[in-house]
Amino acid sequence: MKESWDTRIQRAEQLATRSEAARELLTFYGTLLRAQKEGYEYLRGQKGWLPSGTLEEDLPVVRATVPALLQAVAASGPPALAEEARALSRAGGGEIDGALLEQWRAPSDTRFFEKALLQPYARWLAESGAQPFDRELERREGRCPFCAGKPQVSFLQTSEPGAESGGRGLVCSACLTVWPFRRVVCASCGEERPAKLGYFQSPEYEHIRVEACDTCQHYIKGVDLTRLGLAVPLVDEVAAAALDVWAHEHGYTKIELNLVGL
Ligand SMILES: [Zn+2]
Ligand SMILES: [Zn+2]
Repeated sequence: MKESWDTRIQRAEQLATRSEAARELLTFYGTLLRAQKEGYEYLRGQKGWLPSGTLEEDLPVVRATVPALLQAVAASGPPALAEEARALSRAGGGEIDGALLEQWRAPSDTRFFEKALLQPYARWLAESGAQPFDRELERREGRCPFCAGKPQVSFLQTSEPGAESGGRGLVCSACLTVWPFRRVVCASCGEERPAKLGYFQSPEYEHIRVEACDTCQHYIKGVDLTRLGLAVPLVDEVAAAALDVWAHEHGYTKIELNLVGL
């Protein structure tokens, strides 16, 4: 699977024109992705600088990506987020630095701005060959092999010859790294008894399903690229918001909320 900021942006725009129900959500997500791409390109374009992997040390550069993202959200985010963006713009740099460091060391999927601001940094960190040093999260199965972040979305693709995962992969919620994962196993607790794992679909989205676990009561959405090859897991996951409503109604908690809070 080849994902980039551009494929994500294009997919958000495409889905926004197609889905009446998710139009507002996807238009906003598209704007957010463009701001993230801008931040990523700023970091990547720094002459003579590569991220050290210690966020505290890298903050002076990362901080420069904050205003543009806040402006984008203030201009086109949902009212509550837009208000928060304006408040953060008025706050001192110290406050934002502290919030970013906290998110880096103890991630939360409800801290929207911190998560959105750190994704481009973490992506460039992964691509530039550095290692995250001041992020000592628990390393275990179901966590990103690069940064130990939780998976945002699961996907299936035609398995490459010699692949062991049966074509399943997970996308990291923090650094967007993609890694292969065993097919019939809960991405949260590792449960592998088929009777404990449930898959739920709605006719509305034939290529997306809820992958739920009755042992830990967590779920993740899975995007089936063998059914729809042009889907972009991170974005199609956001578009299928109705499935999250269904999962919550049935008592499941998402492993990691996405950037639009679903
Ligand atoms: Zn990661
Ligand atoms: Zn589980």
